[in-house]
Amino acid sequence: MEDCLFCKFVSGEIAVNEVFENEDFIVIRDINPQAKNHFLVIPKKHFKYLAEMTEEDSAMLGRILKTIPELKELLELDGGYRLVINQGDDAGQTVPHLHIHVLSGQKMGWQPA
Ligand code: AMP
Ligand code: ZN
Repeated sequence: MEDCLFCKFVSGEIAVNEVFENEDFIVIRDINPQAKNHFLVIPKKHFKYLAEMTEEDSAMLGRILKTIPELKELLELDGGYRLVINQGDDAGQTVPHLHIHVLSGQKMGWQPA
């Protein structure tokens, strides 16, 4: 999609340091980390909301969720980890391309605001 930062990362139009890539997604480090490790898992397909997903998209998202724990060394998941998907304004979604935040490497509290 034009004018989408994450689509530009996926296409290579904007260079980004990918820590992992497969046919479904890329993983990058968040520029503004909220934990010792803060990764963004970015599906290659552009859509903003879970509510927009087709059956094919939901199979793709299922593959992504299955693959994340398989990247445990790379993402430092051994001590536990948190996945976050912000949806819409109240959640603070700033990039309109669905992505999964992966937070790891430290004990975390719970602070919704
Ligand atoms: P969200 O607020 O859930 O839409 O998440 C968007 C995330 O993208 C935020 O955590 C930002 O820090 C992150 N972000 C924005 N621009 C960049 C960038 N150029 N490289 C890496 N992460 C970015
Ligand atoms: Zn996009």
